[in-house]
Amino acid sequence: PALVVAVDGPSGSGKSSVSRAVARRFGLRYLDTGAMYRALTWWCLDQAVDLADQGAVVRAMDAMPLVMGTDPAAPSVFVGAVDVGEPIRQTRVSERVSAVATNLDVRARMRDLQRRLIGEAEAGVVAEGRDITTVVAPDADVRVLLTATEQARLERRTRELHGHAEQDAVESTRDQVVRRDRDDSTVSQFVTAADGVHTIDSSAMGFEEVVDALSALVTR
Ligand code: C5P
Repeated sequence: PALVVAVDGPSGSGKSSVSRAVARRFGLRYLDTGAMYRALTWWCLDQAVDLADQGAVVRAMDAMPLVMGTDPAAPSVFVGAVDVGEPIRQTRVSERVSAVATNLDVRARMRDLQRRLIGEAEAGVVAEGRDITTVVAPDADVRVLLTATEQARLERRTRELHGHAEQDAVESTRDQVVRRDRDDSTVSQFVTAADGVHTIDSSAMGFEEVVDALSALVTR
């Protein structure tokens, strides 16, 4: 059976770039499950679906022609013919994604879809998100929780958004990140190191160091 690596962590933990690098190193596919929740949020906004209407969001998901590209060198997200790779990172999506992610019917469907995508990855896969080690792939060969202090996560997110992490930029990011952590708190109950899940605290580690630490768990 194919190798499955499950990586969970909060926003700014560095899980996306680390997961991609590990997937490339071992010739595995890469599944960004956060991008799936983001794509659904983008689709609901595009289709003028009321995010507070849980049933409407579920119906929107059933009608969404989502195509996840799992090449770790160039992951992609398409809704029909539309490349949504850029728009799903926009603030208007980031601010609203928690409303979609706390919809339990959406989560159940996402879980099934993600399991199918993981199963289709014949070469194996690194799947990352919030509930991969616990809900989506609790039987994964390697399960890792990537954590970092709030300050470290803020600085990373700020660098992603602004290209630097000077204090004024960090402060403007703080509101966004703290708000999403709070909005995600019902999702984050899944972000705990369950039995058999390795924790890597990346706060004081460089990027390559984290990639090596995760890779060591894969080869073990
Ligand atoms: O990882 P990323 O920040 O792109 O995730 C976006 C949002 O998707 C998270 O804030 C969370 O609300 C949701 N999510 C989730 N379960 C996952 C992955 C992401 O609820 N497995």
